[in-house]
Amino acid sequence: MRENQQTQNSSPLKKRKVIKMAQGKEVIEGAGVRLKRVIGNNELEDVDPFLLLDEFRSDKPDDYIAGFPTHPHRGFETVTYMIEGFMEHKDSTGRSGVLKPGGAQWMTAGSGILHSEIPKQKEGFLWGFQLWVNLPADKKMTDPRYQNIEPEDIPELRTDDGVVIKVIAGKVSDTTGPVTGIETDPLYIDVTLPPKCVFTQKVQKGHSAIVYMIDGAGLLDDENNMKVGAMTGSLALFGEGDYIDVSAVDKPARFLMLSARPLNEPVTRYGPFVMNTKDQIEKAFDDYRSGKLVSATP
Ligand code: MN
Repeated sequence: MRENQQTQNSSPLKKRKVIKMAQGKEVIEGAGVRLKRVIGNNELEDVDPFLLLDEFRSDKPDDYIAGFPTHPHRGFETVTYMIEGFMEHKDSTGRSGVLKPGGAQWMTAGSGILHSEIPKQKEGFLWGFQLWVNLPADKKMTDPRYQNIEPEDIPELRTDDGVVIKVIAGKVSDTTGPVTGIETDPLYIDVTLPPKCVFTQKVQKGHSAIVYMIDGAGLLDDENNMKVGAMTGSLALFGEGDYIDVSAVDKPARFLMLSARPLNEPVTRYGPFVMNTKDQIEKAFDDYRSGKLVSATP
């Protein structure tokens, strides 16, 4: 395969290569939820602006039933995407709802929110993801808000060779996802690739980009132009370039592809708060303890 493809104006398009592979680590979070932390562990601290990526995936109620009772957030965004099962959320803005299979919630915690996230099922399969996306320094104290996305509002593209692409945020061909107005201009897609197919996606220059294999296995290109296998549960971090290729060989591959504009700002994180300085973290704790987190103004 040619390394560079030529566009009409002759500027070469560069394929992004894998610069790091990582595996998730088992952690217990919330009131006792067993999950896999893919970003935000000691192997992969963050992928600017992504601060955390958790996968919860179990058919054992003991692994998830306790959920995440009321807790605070400040300074970033939490993004929940469900593949199977139901998750109920309630928050200090007075809103609540149930995320359904295929649904998503993009919550901008901003200056502060208190919320709970509890599985709305006593048994059965629960499978979903939570991503944390950082906010720029001057938007950390923005008003909290969220976008609830029903499963039917997530466009699903099908290519001639059977690739299925769900677009949660960002743009694939002429299809734009329903999540809008996010500071870091993210792409969040869920791709199912039949055997012997290749998927190519343009990624904005300068943006961080990852692929997280959630089912099956795929092949990616590394810096030595070798093919590297990404099995279920593997995360690939890509270097600079214009587009990413993922191919499936003898079995299907299902993966999340995420990209966003890095902030290149100092990150100071502690538990549910992600700010720029230690003083701001202490202020967040003070506000939380004194009941002022939710009403805080910049
Ligand atoms: Mn939360």
